[in-house]
Amino acid sequence: MDKSQPIGIFGGTFDPVHFGHLRLAQEALEQCRLGSVRFMPAGTPPHRAVPLAEAQHRLNMVRLATAGHSAFVVDEREVHRTDKCYTVDSLQSLRDELGELQPLCLLLGSDAFLQLHAWHQWQRLFALAHVVVMQRPGRPLGNAMQQADTVLQAEYGTRLAPACSVLHEASCGHILVLDMPQLDISATDIRKRVSQQKSARYLLPDVVAQYIETNKLYKTC
Ligand code: ATP
Repeated sequence: MDKSQPIGIFGGTFDPVHFGHLRLAQEALEQCRLGSVRFMPAGTPPHRAVPLAEAQHRLNMVRLATAGHSAFVVDEREVHRTDKCYTVDSLQSLRDELGELQPLCLLLGSDAFLQLHAWHQWQRLFALAHVVVMQRPGRPLGNAMQQADTVLQAEYGTRLAPACSVLHEASCGHILVLDMPQLDISATDIRKRVSQQKSARYLLPDVVAQYIETNKLYKTC
């Protein structure tokens, strides 16, 4: 892997991983010319009702879904943690490992970006990585940004970059908004379908659908 190419960091509960996630990663990889995308499944704090599948299952499903893609990597640093685990800490540990010069890009759907101001030490994220926002169906940034948190609006206004080239020129600090094919798929909807004995085929890889069936996941939701 070319060290100078930006690395995408894609966190989520992945409960389960689906084609919306995989397409987002593929779009970011191609549009931003990333060297790789690291899928980073979140841990399961004991006090939280969700995610519903155990960390090991969610990790296994991400492994199955990304196997065979040479630029998709699974990063396990969060998934086995049962304490509170913040993205800012994971990015800091990656930064410590990879050095100051390596461009890092935190990949987010637009729904997640609109809530960024609620994240722990969220403004520090920009000192550690770029933020690449992918438009998600039903949550376009456009008008929503005008109603967003005012500090988030200010950061957005200052950091918004016009083109992917900035991700290669600096190691952190810019925001980029990209379009992707709109796949109106959510893990919530998949869990609901499975719990109602409906098929989730064509919303996620067959190998993941098979894993859910074999391990009897999401029987209730
Ligand atoms: P849930 O329905 O359980 O909330 P989810 O489908 O939203 O789950 P997450 O694991 O919470 O999936 O999402 C991880 C990241 O993937 C977030 O940044 C989210 O915005 C993005 N994402 C999820 N689904 C899509 C999709 N269909 N298109 C684009 N981005 C998506």
